[in-house]
Amino acid sequence: MSEFATQQIQAGYVPGTPQHSAVPPIYQTAAFQFASLAEAADLFALRKSGNLYSRNASPTQQVLEERVAALEGGVSAVAVASGQAAVAVTLLAIVGVRGHIVAANQLYGGTVDLFQDTFEDFGIEVTFVDQDDAEAWRAAIRPETRALFAESVANPVAQVLDIRLVADIAHEAGVPLVIDNTVGTPYLVRPGEHGADFVVHSATKFLSGHGTSLGGVVVDQGTFDFGAQPERWPQFTAEYKRVPGLVLWERFGIGQAFAALVKSKYVHDLGPSLSPFNAWQILQGIETLDLRVARQSSTAFAIAQFLAQHPSVAHVNHPGLEGNRWHDLAGRYLPNGVPSVFSFDLAGAEDEGTQERIARVIDSLKVVRLVANIGDARSLVAHPASMTHSHLNAQQRSAAGISLNTIRLSAGLEDPRDLIADLEQALARA
Ligand SMILES: *Cc1c(COP(=O)(O)O)cnc(C)c1O
Repeated sequence: MSEFATQQIQAGYVPGTPQHSAVPPIYQTAAFQFASLAEAADLFALRKSGNLYSRNASPTQQVLEERVAALEGGVSAVAVASGQAAVAVTLLAIVGVRGHIVAANQLYGGTVDLFQDTFEDFGIEVTFVDQDDAEAWRAAIRPETRALFAESVANPVAQVLDIRLVADIAHEAGVPLVIDNTVGTPYLVRPGEHGADFVVHSATKFLSGHGTSLGGVVVDQGTFDFGAQPERWPQFTAEYKRVPGLVLWERFGIGQAFAALVKSKYVHDLGPSLSPFNAWQILQGIETLDLRVARQSSTAFAIAQFLAQHPSVAHVNHPGLEGNRWHDLAGRYLPNGVPSVFSFDLAGAEDEGTQERIARVIDSLKVVRLVANIGDARSLVAHPASMTHSHLNAQQRSAAGISLNTIRLSAGLEDPRDLIADLEQALARA
């Protein structure tokens, strides 16, 4: 059982529960009964692994973790309440308090808020660099740097990251590369195959695909050796404060110690636990991941080609198109297709009339919906300048590659002919 489509339906679940349920059941329980006091003591001391309390883990969540780890080609995973939580607990576990992160400029807005505001409160500093500039990544690394962070494919401009390049820079500096693969999806790109050490997801998006449930996952690829420079990573290599006598790196080792730390400390203490019901919903979505993503990618490419020749459209940011700045990287990293989240700029100056023109187009759409989400079965648009990127000034907007004229589109599963006809009638109002 090794092919992608088989794993996305079967990985992590062996029927054999008392009821022999074919589909993984929802274990909707807050806590678990111990066989004896001795077993309870072993579980609390991390001498034994097993079910204890659903804040730490639930069996439904564990099926999801194993399945996403399999799809990403990783060793272990932790599922949490949202993509935000996945990014936060991953970096807290790796970087600790007062560490430094070098991150791409081109990140999801919520991640930027986390890095610039909340992490700053925690004494974690983040330096932002242009992700295409190898020298900028190198120059930003300091002795206290503990991680490099970027997205495999960003949005709304759909920049494709040269993952191998950034992974090599991270490893020369002795730190791991963390990749947010939410937009990429493991069907299109597996960052671990290109040197990433940890892969995070907002499972809310493509992994679910139905737009019903929030969730997040982080996969440990089992490649980063925190034991190689033990003084840098005391959270793994020194005695674990809450379990006297235990050193996580000795007990769990490469590929497992990270998940043990995230679950037993950060999820346990901060509490961003995934509900069993949401874990189950995300599992249902994953079973059709390859079919959905392949269809959405081809639909998005057809829409991008339609938009590229439309007189009311000035520019289309889709790396599948010839002449796009990331076209070669897309050929290298995304041989199965380019993600279905991209953007385009309406033709016309940026002036007082722009907002009204954009509103006329967006408000005329009937099939495509105005929703601040991506990766859904429904096709969705957003206007970054007044929604996801509204806190940026004009200069920051242009650094991010967007203008007042930029519209983001996430292609869904509707018939592409209906989507193109809908865009055509809306663009007639531009
Ligand atoms: C949505 C998103 C997140 C945050 O995920 P939530 O599930 O909304 O918390 C992180 N990264 C990317 C790229 C996203 O699109």
